[in-house]
Amino acid sequence: MAHRTADVVIVGNGALGLSIAVETALRDPALRVALIGLQNRPGAASGAAGAMLNCYAEVTAHTDEHPAPRAKFALAREAARLWPGWLDRLAEATRGNPAPVKIKRGTLVVMGARTTGDGARSMRAIRDAAEEHGEPFQDVDPYGLDFLEPEQGEQPVDALYLENEAAVDARQVLAALDAAASALGVTRVADEAASLTITGDTVTGIRLSSGEDITAGAVVLAAGAATARLIEQLPAGSVQPMLSGTGMALETRRVRGPGMPYVVRTPTLVGGCGLHAVPLGDGIEYLGATNLVFFDPQDGPRLGLVQALLSGFIAQFDRRLGLSAVRRWHYGLRPVTLDTFPLLGRGPLPGLFFATGTYRDGFHDSPAIARHLADLLLKPGDDTPYALFAPGRRPIETTTVDEAAERFAEMAVLVGVERGMRLPYFLDTEPIAAACRRLAHESVERLGTPIALAPEILGAVSEADAERVRRVAAYLKS
Ligand SMILES: Cc1cc2nc3c(=O)[nH]c(=O)nc-3n(C[C@H](O)[C@H](O)[C@H](O)COP(=O)(O)OP(=O)(O)OC[C@H]3O[C@@H](n4cnc5c(N)ncnc54)[C@H](O)[C@@H]3O)c2cc1C
Repeated sequence: MAHRTADVVIVGNGALGLSIAVETALRDPALRVALIGLQNRPGAASGAAGAMLNCYAEVTAHTDEHPAPRAKFALAREAARLWPGWLDRLAEATRGNPAPVKIKRGTLVVMGARTTGDGARSMRAIRDAAEEHGEPFQDVDPYGLDFLEPEQGEQPVDALYLENEAAVDARQVLAALDAAASALGVTRVADEAASLTITGDTVTGIRLSSGEDITAGAVVLAAGAATARLIEQLPAGSVQPMLSGTGMALETRRVRGPGMPYVVRTPTLVGGCGLHAVPLGDGIEYLGATNLVFFDPQDGPRLGLVQALLSGFIAQFDRRLGLSAVRRWHYGLRPVTLDTFPLLGRGPLPGLFFATGTYRDGFHDSPAIARHLADLLLKPGDDTPYALFAPGRRPIETTTVDEAAERFAEMAVLVGVERGMRLPYFLDTEPIAAACRRLAHESVERLGTPIALAPEILGAVSEADAERVRRVAAYLKS
C-alpha cells in the first residue's frame, strides 16, 4: 500500500481545516501541508452555514457570567477584526479567481412579541457589551421597517442595529479557500481519515479509508462533528465526546416585498439559534436555522423543526416570505462538545492538535482559529491565548446542576410560548417548567455523575440510547 509523508496533516476540509491549511501555507511556503477530505464534504456544517459574522449579536445574558463564554466572546471579537484582511489575503493568493468575496455589513436584531424574559435579557446584554467595547449600535423603532411585515400580534417589540456586524456567502468563501489552498501548494487528498496512527504515545500520522498511510510531524483534527469517531480512538477519558448539532436552512428567491437589506435576526435564545435571514444578493435570501443536538449524526432535519422554522419566519419576520420560491435547502452537522465550548490547541498526545467543537459560530471564528493553530504548528512552545479550550480539559461547567435544569425548563417554556402556547388564567407555566426540571435531573442521573450541561445537551442525553449513555458516563467517571 502507498505511503506518503507530510509535515502537517489536517483532517477535515470545512472552513476550519481549509483556513488552517491556507494560513500555515501562507506563513511557511516550504511546509508540506496535506488536507484530507472528500470534495462533496459529507455532513459539513460550513457549507450549510448562514455565515453571519456576528459577535455582539451573539451575546446573551450568560456571556459575562463565566471566563469560558468571555473567552469565546474575545475570540469572536478577534475574528471580526481579522475578516477584511483575511479576504484580501485570499483574493491575493487566488489572483481574483474566483471573484473576491465581499462582506455585507449591517445586522438588525429584532425581539419578537412572543419572546420570553430570555430574549429581553439577551437584548440588554448586547447593548451592554456594545457600550462596554465601544461598538456602534442604534436603537431602532421596530414599527417603522418596510421590509418586515409580520403577522398580526407577532410584531417585534424591540430592535437594534449593529452596523459592523456582517455576513458573507459561505459557499463563496469555501470556493475561495479551496482555490487559495490549491494555489499555495497544499496537497489535497480526496479521502477520509479512518484512524490515527499512534506510535508509542505519539500521534505520527493517519490511515486513510483507502488503506494508505500518511506519516506526519503534526496531525490537526478539524473534521467537524465527525471528529467524534477519531476521539473515540484516544485513551479513554482524554477528550470529551463530540455531538452533532443538526441544522437546516433554506435558500429562497423573493417574489414579493423588498426583502431584507442586511442580516435580520432574533437574539440567541436559550438552547437554540433563533431565526436569521441573510440576503445573498439578487433577491436570494438564506433563511436559517434549526438546531437539534444528537450524540450521533442524523440523516436529515426533523420535519417538525422545519415547520417551526418556516412558520416562524412568515409569522415573525415577513408574511410575504410565504410567496418566495424555494431554490434549495442546506443541512449540516455543527460540531458540538459535551460542554459546548471549542476544542482548540494541543491534544492529549504529542503530535496531535484540535480545531473543532465550534458549534454555532465556527465560520465567523475561522480566521482567528487558523491564526492560533498556525502559531502552534510553526512556533513550537507557544500556546494559544485560549488555553481554557485545551482539548484535554475537564468539561467546563458554567452553572450548577440545578441552574442547568432551570435553563432546560426555560427553553421548553420559551419554545412553547413561541409556538403559541396559551394557558387559562388560573394556570401559569410553572407546572410545565417543573416537569421539564424533573426531566433534566433524570438525564443527569442517567449519566451517574452530577454535571451541569447546556439545555440542548440535556435534550440529547434524554434521547440517547443506553449504550451511548454508558459511554458518556464512562468518560465522565474517568
Ligand atoms: C445551518 C447552520 C447555520 C450556521 N450558521 C452559522 C453562522 O451564521 N455563523 C457562524 O459563524 N457559524 C455558523 N454555523 C456553524 C459553523 O458552520 C460551524 O461552526 C463551522 O462551519 C464548523 O467548521 P468545521 O470546518 O469545523 O466543520 P465542518 O464544516 O463540518 O467541516 C468538517 C469537514 O470534515 C470532513 N470530514 C469528516 N470526517 C472526516 C474524516 N474522517 N476525514 C477527513 N475529512 C472528514 C467533512 O466532510 C467536512 O467537510 C452554522 C451551522 C449550521 C449547520
